[in-house]
Amino acid sequence: MTTLNSSHLRAWLAGLSPLFEANLERLSQLDAALGDGDHGASMVRGMRAVSAKIAAMPAAGDCGSLLQAAGMAIVSATGGATGPLFGAIFMEAGKVARGKSELASADLAAMFQAASSALSARGGALPGDKTMVDALAPAAAALAECSVRGDEVAQALAMAAQAAEQGAAATAAMPASKGRARYLGQRALGHVDAGATSVALIMQALANTALDIPYPPMV
Ligand code: ADP
Ligand code: MG
Repeated sequence: MTTLNSSHLRAWLAGLSPLFEANLERLSQLDAALGDGDHGASMVRGMRAVSAKIAAMPAAGDCGSLLQAAGMAIVSATGGATGPLFGAIFMEAGKVARGKSELASADLAAMFQAASSALSARGGALPGDKTMVDALAPAAAALAECSVRGDEVAQALAMAAQAAEQGAAATAAMPASKGRARYLGQRALGHVDAGATSVALIMQALANTALDIPYPPMV
């Protein structure tokens, strides 16, 4: 597959709600170890709003509109740290995709680079701070590398999903310095960050969408 079209994006966004419902408990347990235990519920609330919004939109071909609508739905449905941060990710990616009905590897690289920059600008976290940045920044870097190499979309997204997963797993070895977990500092060692895990799930779902596999494997 050389491009991802707006039907793929629609399927991906609509599928995030059941995906996060299936992972609600796991994500809340991760957040309970480092924060207040609400991350799973927050993500489910946000993604249900995304599904509802996407279902109500006309089957237009603009990838940017779908992503921007998803971002706005998350912001309005989700409180806490994650609402505005995930909202920024989807809205910035949407700005780059505006007017496009198909996305090649280079488009995806530009979208996720913009999303990753917006996330860091909004939350002030850098790689190594044990946040969702630690999954999104490597995913964006992998997409950039694949785009330069001329990889097809499915291959590029598979590499991005793998980078996000590895980035999320690596947060276990990081002390915390942002969000609620910052109060734990070194005591956060050994625990995987919840938000980074959510980013990895979202990237895996996108990679699977490109291969026409409905959902990532549930853990
Ligand atoms: P809250 O902390 O308000 O309860 P959630 O539990 O939904 O929000 O989300 C917690 C996640 O948010 C963390 O696991 C972390 O990945 C992410 N996070 C928190 N603060 C930041 C930040 N400043 N930048 C990026 N991500 C952050
Ligand atoms: Mg929380």
